[in-house]
Amino acid sequence: MTSAETSTDTPHIVICTTGGTITASTTSDGAVIAGDSDPATAAMLDQLRSVLPGEIRVSARAVLDADSSTFGPAEWDLLVDAVSDVLADPDVTGVVVTHGTDTLEETAIALDLHHDDPRPVALTGAQRPADHPEADGPANLLDAVLLAADPVSRDLGVLVVLGRAILQARGVRKWHTTDPVAFARNSPDHPVEGLPPELERPTLTGRARFADVRVDVVACPPGSDATALHACVSAGARGLVLEGSGSGNLPPEVAGAVAQLAEERPDLVVVATSRVPRGEATATYGGHGGGAELATRGVLSAGYLRSGQARVLLAALLSTTDGAGADAAADVRRQWDRYHLYS
Ligand code: ASP
Repeated sequence: MTSAETSTDTPHIVICTTGGTITASTTSDGAVIAGDSDPATAAMLDQLRSVLPGEIRVSARAVLDADSSTFGPAEWDLLVDAVSDVLADPDVTGVVVTHGTDTLEETAIALDLHHDDPRPVALTGAQRPADHPEADGPANLLDAVLLAADPVSRDLGVLVVLGRAILQARGVRKWHTTDPVAFARNSPDHPVEGLPPELERPTLTGRARFADVRVDVVACPPGSDATALHACVSAGARGLVLEGSGSGNLPPEVAGAVAQLAEERPDLVVVATSRVPRGEATATYGGHGGGAELATRGVLSAGYLRSGQARVLLAALLSTTDGAGADAAADVRRQWDRYHLYS
């Protein structure tokens, strides 16, 4: 039986656990510890099994056990491998990943860029620790498992399930530091012509190795200079995501440094994103540092992605492109528009 033919009559969901607040406990001085959570993870799974419809089978795999604010490229690599390994079993109907909310948006896009299987991967977590009297984790986990077991979630890629919201991975962002409705998704208000947006989810041509590529995010608030940008380049960045204002416009000194980089470092890829929470970053304004002027220097617009996910996408494309140096950068620039969220 191929994965596309997997039976959904007796769904089998594999839960990959990684720590986070969903299995966190609170110390006597009030600190929330979102790792080293074996007992809480076991209790979470027991509680789930006690409320789950009998026909849904769950099994668990411990992948990580830490606060997701400690995760980075190496953990994204580990999770991409773990999910693909789970899905190698045709008996599996879907995957649920329990994850801290702090960096769930990076893991979500890292997984989605690799996920060309019709079976769902649902990421969930919690805003309140497992020992909170009104813990939100159990309901979120139940929702995620029920969704992953439901054929309706096939072909939608990686989904984020939290606070009764179900969101596709690309464009998703942590939206509130404490509210149970923790995530929102930045995406076009109206579907573009052609395919419905949920089907426009191109995946990578190869397996990215995030840990091998340095891509930095640089905040570029009004009046900022190029000190941070130069530090990242000196540290070996192959890509930069510059978080500007408005539709992705950069302050004059940063724009000057970008123009210089375009001359001196054609192997570097620069993406402009925005500090504005919603809407599209575009090459619109023509003045110095405006998106349109930056585009003439090869700077890419992040569209509906914001810094965190634009960084993961840029690292993924740099990692999977053939060639090296300026050729690799040129190839990534050619590919970018296909991936950054249908605009
Ligand atoms: N700091 C926690 C984490 O990301 C927050 C959470 O899980 O909600 O692991």
